[in-house]
Amino acid sequence: MNIGEIKKEIDQANYIVITTHKSPDGDAIGSSLGLYHYLKNRGKEVVVIVPDAFPDFLKWMSLSDEIVYFDKNKEAAVRHIEKSDLIFSLDYNALSRIGELGEVIGESKANKIVIDHHQNPQEFANHYYVDTNCCSTAQLIYEFLDELGSIDSLTKEIAECLYCGIMTDTGSFRYPSTTAKTHQIIAHFLTLGVNGAKIHEYVYDTYSEHRLRLIGYALTQKMKVFPEYNAAYISLSQQELKEFNFQKGDTEGLVNYPLSINGIKFAALITEKEKDISMSMRSKDDFYVNEFANEHFQGGGHIYAAGGKSDLSLEDTIIKFEELLKQFKN
Ligand code: MN
Repeated sequence: MNIGEIKKEIDQANYIVITTHKSPDGDAIGSSLGLYHYLKNRGKEVVVIVPDAFPDFLKWMSLSDEIVYFDKNKEAAVRHIEKSDLIFSLDYNALSRIGELGEVIGESKANKIVIDHHQNPQEFANHYYVDTNCCSTAQLIYEFLDELGSIDSLTKEIAECLYCGIMTDTGSFRYPSTTAKTHQIIAHFLTLGVNGAKIHEYVYDTYSEHRLRLIGYALTQKMKVFPEYNAAYISLSQQELKEFNFQKGDTEGLVNYPLSINGIKFAALITEKEKDISMSMRSKDDFYVNEFANEHFQGGGHIYAAGGKSDLSLEDTIIKFEELLKQFKN
């Protein structure tokens, strides 16, 4: 990483595209819009392109309505990428993480900069501003702007977006990745007039009745706890999701609940999707869930938060998962 060179590329760029991962979360949208505001304020032509939809509870962020959806608006997205001379990849580090959009970016001649905090970055960009110990890409955007010498151009809008990214990726400043620096950055945001309580409300107090009842059902009926393995999981079938009028994002955060049981260090949410089974995993202490996801469920992620998938049926995935728990104990 050469910040001087990056600075020059940004200075020279006229048309900048910012991209982030599939099923964008608070960090993906927060970091993208934070950087978007900054570059726009510098007079650049900028577009944020996401592979697909993101939850409504992130739509309070300023200019979120200007985001281009690749799946719905492919032609426009391709046109932007063709015109661009600089592309940012935020909160992901492999083109495979963004589906078909990745193919278009892979073919583009524009300079590419990755800003990310996931493990094992793939080779596709000119510059990598990466810290796998950092809690969030939003924090990295702050540090990036700081290194560019631009921290004084931070506005309340930028700060709100970055606050949201840090808040969601740290579980509201409680995961071990939260550092003194994280709190200092948040403090800076507050001095710019960011209302942290309001942002919590926008993001976390927007459940539908169905969503809360789905959580209740999952916890009372569908959670299996294995105290002997310090593990627990929740499984949900398509049928069950339909019964609770499932909307995208409704199971977000559900995987964290089993970890709040005393002694549980490993939690998984196993969800039946239309085509395959998706796995979301969380862990604590000495259990590194990214390795487990990578070895057994075609996935990966962070050491304490990872995802994966299975091509087996839901039942067979559960059998495989329980077998693995037994093996791990031995
Ligand atoms: Mn992130």
